[in-house]
Amino acid sequence: MAKTKFRFNQETLSYDRIRHSAKSVILKIAAYFVGSLIIAAFYYVIWAVFVDSPKEKLLRNEISQLTLQYELIQKEMGEIEVVLDQLQETDDNLYRSIFEADPVSSAYRTAGTGGVRRYRELDGYSNAQLVMETTEKLNMLRNRIYVQSKSYDELVVLAENKEDMLRAVPAIMPISNKDLKRTASGFGLRIHPIYKIVMMHNGMDFTAPTGTEIYATGDGKITAATSQKGLGNYVTIDHGYGYTTTYAHMNGFNVRRGQRVKRGDVIGYVGNTGLSLAPHLHYEIKYNGNYVDPANFYFNDLTADEYERMIEISSNAGQSFD
Ligand SMILES: [Zn+2]
Repeated sequence: MAKTKFRFNQETLSYDRIRHSAKSVILKIAAYFVGSLIIAAFYYVIWAVFVDSPKEKLLRNEISQLTLQYELIQKEMGEIEVVLDQLQETDDNLYRSIFEADPVSSAYRTAGTGGVRRYRELDGYSNAQLVMETTEKLNMLRNRIYVQSKSYDELVVLAENKEDMLRAVPAIMPISNKDLKRTASGFGLRIHPIYKIVMMHNGMDFTAPTGTEIYATGDGKITAATSQKGLGNYVTIDHGYGYTTTYAHMNGFNVRRGQRVKRGDVIGYVGNTGLSLAPHLHYEIKYNGNYVDPANFYFNDLTADEYERMIEISSNAGQSFD
């Protein structure tokens, strides 16, 4: 029940009852209502700023968890990058130099990274920088791994070819030459034994008795097994990769034209046919059509010391055998 209020009237010296108009009552109620609303809003703002709702708490936890995860991923990617750096270095400096291939260009290795700023759609979020960095790094790693695996594919092909090439290139002496005693005359200017003038000697001579076995010095295909006035009976092998070898003054053949031979196969026998002073083998190597010194193609046979001695013997001989 509402209290009845009175006001003291000084003229009549009596109390008059205070009567409220409906309007003033409504105004008063409205004032109370607005006032309490303002206070409520004030408290709500205070509460919202300083106290999280359970859902907000959950989200906040989740964000910090994700941030942590991202940071961990970044750290791991950094470690992967170090490994990739090492792989790249070995690739460029070791494998590619073994196979005489050019290093993968750095432009190709870093293609598709950096430059234009990607992932712009992530801008504006508070952790955008972290997410963008991580995504960019991931993309860069993916690209580098792709380039690296491509490079390895190439190296596998190179290695396979190299094996084939190593079998083909002349690499042994054409006859058994223990103690190098059969080395007679080397590559270079020599006195011709028959013309008695200084002439270019395009190969290396090995003295040996008639009938001594002559070996193919590398894998290849016989392109000639025939006779000629100067070389006598001779065999030529095409080894591919720019190399051919010729074996002259033979006594007889053990191969036919068109036949494929492997290194060490007996292709014929030492003789004294053609322009020859005595039974010996004249051995020539051509690389891309030009004569080269066979002394440099015995890597499978000679130690460094033996090589020195052979060079000495073959260059001291003033006269060749053909
Ligand atoms: Zn010769």
